[in-house]
Amino acid sequence: IANTNSKPVNEAYIKEKNVEHFIDTHDYRLAKDINKLITTFYLNDLEEQPMAYFLLFIDLDDIDFTGINRVRNRLILAAVLAILLLTSSFYYLYVKRYKLFVDTLNTKLEHEVAAKTLELEEKNKHLIHIAHHDSLTGLPNRLLFLDRLDNAIKYAKRHNNNVAVLFLDLDRFKEVNDTYGHEVGDKLLKNITQRLKACVRDYDTIARLGGDEFTIIIQGAENEQLISIVEKIFKNMKASHFINGNTIHSSFSIGISSFPEDGDNTDILLRNADTAMYKAKDKGRNTYKFYNEGMTAQVLKRVKLETELREAIEHNDFHAYYQPKLDAVTGKVIGMEALIRWIHHSHGMIPPDEFIPLAEEIGLIGRIDEWMMKHTLETAHKWHEEGIFNGRLSLNVSMKHIENKSFVDRIKEILTENNFKPELLELEITESQIMKKPQSTIKILNKIKSLGIAISIDDFGTGYSSLSYLKRLPIDRLKIDKSFIQDIPNDEDDTAIVKTIIVLAKSLKLDIIAEGVESLEQKDFLVASGCHHIQGYYYAKPLSEKGFRDFLIKFS
Ligand code: C2E
Ligand code: CA
Ligand code: CA
Repeated sequence: IANTNSKPVNEAYIKEKNVEHFIDTHDYRLAKDINKLITTFYLNDLEEQPMAYFLLFIDLDDIDFTGINRVRNRLILAAVLAILLLTSSFYYLYVKRYKLFVDTLNTKLEHEVAAKTLELEEKNKHLIHIAHHDSLTGLPNRLLFLDRLDNAIKYAKRHNNNVAVLFLDLDRFKEVNDTYGHEVGDKLLKNITQRLKACVRDYDTIARLGGDEFTIIIQGAENEQLISIVEKIFKNMKASHFINGNTIHSSFSIGISSFPEDGDNTDILLRNADTAMYKAKDKGRNTYKFYNEGMTAQVLKRVKLETELREAIEHNDFHAYYQPKLDAVTGKVIGMEALIRWIHHSHGMIPPDEFIPLAEEIGLIGRIDEWMMKHTLETAHKWHEEGIFNGRLSLNVSMKHIENKSFVDRIKEILTENNFKPELLELEITESQIMKKPQSTIKILNKIKSLGIAISIDDFGTGYSSLSYLKRLPIDRLKIDKSFIQDIPNDEDDTAIVKTIIVLAKSLKLDIIAEGVESLEQKDFLVASGCHHIQGYYYAKPLSEKGFRDFLIKFS
């Protein structure tokens, strides 16, 4: 179809570019080379069938693009807005969900933190409690005790008041532990704690310093009130404890110091109460003592003695003295007792009564007794060889030394080293020491006895022997204590006691000897009563090695 008013340029373009061809595929074509937009227009017949089409060449310059651009821009804006809206709503939803998630996490975390804090607080409380209390009894320990005492002193200073410290030490607790075991010992401490609590007011502090040591702080009490508290404690301790099938007795030695008289700080008050407690122990158990200044002087003296005793052992400042034992009927020397002497470089001779108990207490007795054993066995052996002495050597030994596991082996060694016949050796052990633990002592004494060594009970009559034990102890001899000899034959009681002891020894088939015999009268009474063996100043005082040798030569 040709349009009558078509331009020849356009027709040429149609022919040249084969426009019909693209008309089939595209609705329009931008013909930039001729600056035209080419579009089609279909013409239909009456049956709506294509009948013809027109190609329209529109000048690009004639088209108004601003409208199109505006529409496009609006569309782009709308699209951008839509995208923004979508992303922001997605973001909003996401944040909202995320916040919820974070919130739940946060609350969970808060709960966990709270629980952990509580747990830590509990643990902390527990640790503080442990640091301030004794785990066995639950009582305040030394740390808390000192703190409370310090506070009590400060309070008393402000209010012009007083504070007392009671220092309590259980008597013979070590024996309970050794005999029945630590479990029983622990239970005893718990029982005692309960009994102590019943003796004081709620606000008084009872503390356990360790071992068998307890302290009590009493605020604002006069001495009379303190005494009544102490007496209450003694009364409450009286009843026996029944622990694991054992009946156990307990008692305390108590020392008391007070602010302001005996010290104005915790250290001094505690130390002085401790000192007073030791004095109470010395006086006999189950007693109390108020502190006084003289006690400190004694303690210092003791500390000095202890240092000097250790030095004396190092420097070998000991000497053995010997006292003869005679058969009063035959007049023969039957033996000798070795007695230790400490010759101090400036104090001169220190008697054994002044240092043996201390040596026992501080664990030096073994070394001292062993020194005596070696030295006197050597000397006695020399005299045996010389033929001036054929009697027995008696040695004083402390139970503390005998209990030592190596004792029996050591004594065997010393006997062998000195080629000493065991039957010429006798050990003197005091009745009171044997009766402290008769059962375990029997076992040890049997071992000693099996070596062939004789055993004598020293200071007999002062140690409350039970007859049943006396029968079972592997002993050879009773030595009547000198306190009963002193006043015989004038004192009726002593006379009766001495006679009874002699009869007892005879009926138990034991030898008997009397010590501390100073007069002819005493000797004659003893001989008449059946005790022929005599030791004492009547015959001789304890003599130095040389003195005793001279004595032997004169007598043989
Ligand atoms: P003891 O075994 O009872 O010794 C007897 C004490 O009585 C000795 O005192 C002795 O000197 C003294 N004496 C002897 N005859 C008479 C007398 O006729 N009249 C008076 N009034 N006293 C007399 P000493 O030597 O002072 O010894 C005291 C205690 O020390 C001894 O008592 C003994 O238990 C202990 N002892 C001495 N030497 C040793 C030792 O080497 N080891 C141990 N563990 N203890 C010893
Ligand atoms: Ca003796
Ligand atoms: Ca004696």
